[in-house]
Amino acid sequence: MSNIPSIELPSQLIPADGRFGSGPSKVRTESLLELGVTGANFMGTSHRQPGVKSVVGAMRNGIKELFSLPDGYEVMLGVGGASSFWASAAFGLIEKKSQHLDFGVFSGKFAKVVQGAPHLDEPEIIKGGMGTHPLPVPNPEVDLYALTHNETTTGVMMPIERPDAAGIVAVDATSAAGGMAVDPNQFDVYYFSPQKVFGADGGLWIALISPAGAERIEKLGDSDRWVPQFLSLKAALNNSRKDQTTNTPALSTIFLVRSQVDSMLEMGGLDWAVARCAKSSEIVYSWAEASDYAYPFVSNPAERSTNVATINFNEGVSADTVSAVLRENGILDTGGYRALGENQLRLAMFPNVEPSDLETLTKAIDYIVERL
Ligand SMILES: *Cc1c(COP(=O)(O)O)cnc(C)c1O
Repeated sequence: MSNIPSIELPSQLIPADGRFGSGPSKVRTESLLELGVTGANFMGTSHRQPGVKSVVGAMRNGIKELFSLPDGYEVMLGVGGASSFWASAAFGLIEKKSQHLDFGVFSGKFAKVVQGAPHLDEPEIIKGGMGTHPLPVPNPEVDLYALTHNETTTGVMMPIERPDAAGIVAVDATSAAGGMAVDPNQFDVYYFSPQKVFGADGGLWIALISPAGAERIEKLGDSDRWVPQFLSLKAALNNSRKDQTTNTPALSTIFLVRSQVDSMLEMGGLDWAVARCAKSSEIVYSWAEASDYAYPFVSNPAERSTNVATINFNEGVSADTVSAVLRENGILDTGGYRALGENQLRLAMFPNVEPSDLETLTKAIDYIVERL
């Protein structure tokens, strides 16, 4: 960006940590140090041997505990992130027809993957306005309902509730899981990438699977439908049960997730994380509501994400300029999601982000806007 106004923030308006990106998001220094100190026994060793498999096992058990998964639910993992999971789901989770709630860039992307799949029926796509969400509509032809717990691009969250219908429920929980409450009885598949709420690194997907979800994976895996082995959910399920992945994973990502999950359990588990995100979001939204130049993009308070805040500015104040000035001061990744085209900042309020840092950030933004 050219012509960034030169505004230097006073030191008391600089957050202790300047990472506010919604993914990749702030990684705990403690996790990075742990990797540095103990990682030599782990990094650069075989993912088929006990050294790595025990960490994958600890990660899977920790996640099971974090989400209080009922008996019979499993934790799966695979290489490639949520985007890769969509491709796998088109092969190994949707039998014939899916229903998608499309209310942002990520929920729309999954629908597009399915639209192109020649072996599936045309998906039913229920579009919502940007800044709100639609609800699933029971349809006897649908065998998979695709929900998104938190639309990271718009900052809209929705409750996860099973529609009154047959068909499994698959939830993209990439920026929700670990920061929002969820009842496992309301989903069959709850999948996420770990570089958002879990403050780890990308390249991996993790999925919580109900018995009905596993049954669907096994049924389609045993059918004669062609699937590239790399994308096979049946292969991923079998490997996960042995604390492995189908192909080589990023070991550092697994290490960082395990470290993050341990720390969340130590702090008080999902209840602690949810309360912390709620506190942070209260700070950010009440600041925006009281502001004479900023306001929450999502008008219904119940739909405002507690994990990712989208804050619009009045016409006279450029969010891009504010974000650029923040960057000059070492405060990073506060810009809105490009494709949305809003005059907006987007701030991660994940559990790793200190609520006090968000409070300082709101004051820094006020300071900058007063001087523009
Ligand atoms: C970030 C994100 C994705 C994509 O994750 P990748 O790891 O980049 O594939 C998908 N869905 C949601 C809701 C996201 O926030």
